[in-house]
Amino acid sequence: MAKKVFGSCALCQQSKELRDSHIISLMFFKDVCAEPYGLEISVDVDKFNKRNRKGYHEHLLCGDCESRVNIYENEASRIVRNAAGVTFTKVSDDIGQVNGLDYTRFKLFQLSILWRMSVSKLPIFADVKLGNNEETLRLMILNGDAGEVADYGCNIEARLYEGESASQFFSQPTHQPIELPNGEVVSRYETMFGGYVWHFFVARSAKIPPFISKLFLQKDGSFYLAYEELMEMDSFKQTIAEMVLAERKRAARKHDA
Ligand SMILES: [Zn+2]
Repeated sequence: MAKKVFGSCALCQQSKELRDSHIISLMFFKDVCAEPYGLEISVDVDKFNKRNRKGYHEHLLCGDCESRVNIYENEASRIVRNAAGVTFTKVSDDIGQVNGLDYTRFKLFQLSILWRMSVSKLPIFADVKLGNNEETLRLMILNGDAGEVADYGCNIEARLYEGESASQFFSQPTHQPIELPNGEVVSRYETMFGGYVWHFFVARSAKIPPFISKLFLQKDGSFYLAYEELMEMDSFKQTIAEMVLAERKRAARKHDA
């Protein structure tokens, strides 16, 4: 039996037994970790490739808070398993619309992923730093408060690999601030999992113009989804080229040693 770990739960802040909590739900990682894909390859020459079979997890939440978050994860799982009531409608060649989600639960799922990446001590999530927003999000998640559409909204895009959902890829979250038309800069984080790229905007409603907030999950449980084939994206090809180059350099070092 695994040793019990006690400490302060990151969500309710009570001193309790802590679960080995996943930062990003395991359901989004089953294809990432499946053989022979479960390999973490870095573009950094000094980082060695690592096997990853169980996603990313650490002792973070108590059992009650795990149950709380599970309710939100179950809602998100409805997209992954094409559950009854969730529909995908084609709007144009590369844009679709998803309908039939519960706004509060799916929004809280999005908030909980952003918040978990921020509170995580794992190096792979080191770029996600929410500052004061971390406490705001903690209280929203704890109190089941999904906020307004543009409060910490998330724009989701689908990625395809050879025509199928690119669910076997995960990308380390990166900070990609965005400049609004009024010159104001808003913090934004991007990560890919479950065949989707998730763009988390770290701002309250007042700051976000309608042309951005219309891309977020709406109160009727719908959101727009742009589709893109990974192999047609220059940024993806560049990352692959960087990985190959780093791998060659690592091999050359090993050879010289
Ligand atoms: Zn707790």
